[in-house]
Amino acid sequence: MHVTKAELTAMGVEDSQFPKDGLPEIVLSGRSNVGKSSFINSMVNRKKLAYTSSTPGKTQTLNFYNIDDRCYFVDVPGYGYAKVSKKQREEFGKMIEAYIETREQLRLAVLLVDFRHKPTEDDCLMYNFYKHFNIPVLVVGTKVDKIPKTRRHRNEKEIKNTLDFNSTDGFIKYSSETHQGKDQVWKYIHNFLKE
Ligand code: GDP
Repeated sequence: MHVTKAELTAMGVEDSQFPKDGLPEIVLSGRSNVGKSSFINSMVNRKKLAYTSSTPGKTQTLNFYNIDDRCYFVDVPGYGYAKVSKKQREEFGKMIEAYIETREQLRLAVLLVDFRHKPTEDDCLMYNFYKHFNIPVLVVGTKVDKIPKTRRHRNEKEIKNTLDFNSTDGFIKYSSETHQGKDQVWKYIHNFLKE
């Protein structure tokens, strides 16, 4: 898909601050430093649309990117900072839960995990959380360019086992450096926008 428009049009922590035009939404989450902003930027061919989440203490908002007036990418703050306080963790939990539970426009959750490593406990919690609310998930394994081809099958298997991956969900290996997986992810997303 050739994206011509990608704009951050809303930011907020609660419903009254979210877009009201009813466009379908795709929520994107992952631990900090997983490569989420690089993923968003590579998907929409921009260098600096989404900013890296590796700035501790940054305001914890949901950021809505309007993509060609077809859908929103909803960027969730990166989780898993050592420095985040218990209170911030709780606030993050409440915000994401309220959004996931009530947002009718939500079609798909993209969960980014680092393809090089076993998913963290937070990754597993996030995946289970989506499954609990019956949200379809596309797991994107980031930084695949850093893993030799001969090890990729093994890594994918280990990630799926650790997450207790449901075979009705999607799994795509991705590289923001080489754009491997980009067409596959767009194809996957399109299927959810048609409905
Ligand atoms: P975020 O905190 O999840 O938004 O992560 P960033 O997008 O800022 O990426 C964290 C670091 O990983 C940066 O140094 C990126 O350059 C690097 N990175 C992200 N995606 C890839 C990738 O696909 N391949 C490689 N080799 N590095 C990546």
